[in-house]
Amino acid sequence: MAILEVYETFESEEIEPKWQAVWDEEQVYKADLTSDKPKYIAMSMFNYPSGAGIHIGHAMNYTISDVMARFKRQQGFESYHPVGWDAFGLPAENYAIKAGVSPQQSMAKIIPSYHTQYKAMGWSNDWSKEISTHLPEYYRWTQWIFAEMYKKGLAYQDSRMQWWCTKCQTVLANEQVIDGKCWRHDSADDPEVNKKEVKQWFFKITDYADELLEATYDLDWSEVVKTAQINWIGKSEGAEVSFAMAKETETRDKRQELRVFTTRPDTLFGATFMVMAPEHPLVPMITSDEQRSEIEAYTTEAAKKDEVTRQENKEKTGVFTGAYAVNPINGATIPIWVADYVLMGYGTGAIMAVPAHDERDHEFAEKFDLPVLRVVKNDTPDEECSHDEGIMMNSGEYDGMASSDAREKIVSDLTTKGLAEAKTNYKIRDWSVSRQRYWGAPIPIIHCPKDGIVLDENLPVVLPELRRFCAEW
Ligand SMILES: [Zn+2]
Repeated sequence: MAILEVYETFESEEIEPKWQAVWDEEQVYKADLTSDKPKYIAMSMFNYPSGAGIHIGHAMNYTISDVMARFKRQQGFESYHPVGWDAFGLPAENYAIKAGVSPQQSMAKIIPSYHTQYKAMGWSNDWSKEISTHLPEYYRWTQWIFAEMYKKGLAYQDSRMQWWCTKCQTVLANEQVIDGKCWRHDSADDPEVNKKEVKQWFFKITDYADELLEATYDLDWSEVVKTAQINWIGKSEGAEVSFAMAKETETRDKRQELRVFTTRPDTLFGATFMVMAPEHPLVPMITSDEQRSEIEAYTTEAAKKDEVTRQENKEKTGVFTGAYAVNPINGATIPIWVADYVLMGYGTGAIMAVPAHDERDHEFAEKFDLPVLRVVKNDTPDEECSHDEGIMMNSGEYDGMASSDAREKIVSDLTTKGLAEAKTNYKIRDWSVSRQRYWGAPIPIIHCPKDGIVLDENLPVVLPELRRFCAEW
């Protein structure tokens, strides 16, 4: 009864602002990081501030970390509940464009209104240590990390294909391409976007792929998350094998050979055709005159699709290049196709297709009526596709061997002839850290006409504010 009475007389509109003002003034939630008490950091994700203010998701997130922070404080910990703004990035830039001001101006307006909202929620944040990622005093450290990585060869520049709008004269993120057109230029007479080679910066995370994989096994995480992580790293061991161009193709470009990565060199005798990614640089060189227009139409169409769409399980598409390669294990001449289910970014951008032992190659062979040759005998019926190990068949001198033994023997035999080498591949890619857009931490690199790429260690390198930010869209 007593409790009910207290609630009935709790005048929140009066009491809360009164005490919140006191908390603010006396900085009661300021954490002393040098204190002798045991420490606790109630770290939650930093907010991406937008013009809309906080929403119910923020109210939930930060209430959880606030409860933790307060609980630990009561237990005698020096409890630190940080607060900050993940202020750079596309959504903030888009909001500024809409509002007709620079992102600097829009942040200067938005962040104080977040202060009011956070404080009205009664969260126990330490405002004395507030950070915002768009301020030079913060991003000088982002730049410092970049500089250290650059000096160690772990940050590098490379060219990659990016969506490009000729009207904006800028690259577009995947989500800014809608039905093949730029989100800002999507009327009937606007052009379709295309892919353009753009220089970008990368962090060499692939150097750490093995370390990352090893560490994953010991993590105290759910199996589902661990499996997702392991698949994302995607380690596979196998070999890179060279296929020479067949005679008639050789005349078009005699220096070329096609290198493929395979985890199943034991199935080489079953490679009845090859498939290249549409972007493979060899495609235009080896394509025959009769096939050229069809190949060009196909590669143009493929360039409009993103990798996720290309990997989806759908009906296979592809075009014959008119070129042939020689299977190094038996000298057989096999046709070379182009198909978008093969990606340039994985392996070598070309595969040897073994339809009897690979599901996707099998679908492709069925659709285009290409030969299927079983080379590993096991419990699976001969007419079905099988990845399983077994006993070698249709494989010349390797017949009768266990497929796992044949795998090693074939690689070592081809390696002796300079036609293969054992190789480990990963699905993980280096991390692209470039922004082609304006609103982000500048990369501290000078492109000097005389000295080329020069690291600028005079940090911070400050992002200039543009006066006419929105005029040209
Ligand atoms: Zn555009």
